[in-house]
Amino acid sequence: MGSARKDKNGVGETGKLAAPPREYGTYDGCEDRTRDAFWAYLKHTLSHDHPNPERIGCPRHETLKRHARASRVDGRINKHLFQCSPCYRIYRGFARERMLEFLARDSVKEGAKANVE
Ligand SMILES: [Zn+2]
Repeated sequence: MGSARKDKNGVGETGKLAAPPREYGTYDGCEDRTRDAFWAYLKHTLSHDHPNPERIGCPRHETLKRHARASRVDGRINKHLFQCSPCYRIYRGFARERMLEFLARDSVKEGAKANVE
């Protein structure tokens, strides 16, 4: 077998993810590459590996916030999020806010049910 070529993200020609660099730590000593470890790796690489210091093509914060709350995905913004770590981190903050709102809403509903019963 020849040497497998990989792109800058460590994706080999077969399309399978290559092992992440050891400094990520998540996979260290772990024979079983779990789904959680994969998501941790993906979150880390999206958050840090595409610095975009000149902020080329960055949408406004309001646009990222709308994207985090939208029921339909805007492909152009998604593509940018995969290429720009600063925007990805901002987007994740908005997405986290939305998730907390959902959880708070659900716990209020559960509390209301408990009071009725
Ligand atoms: Zn950006």
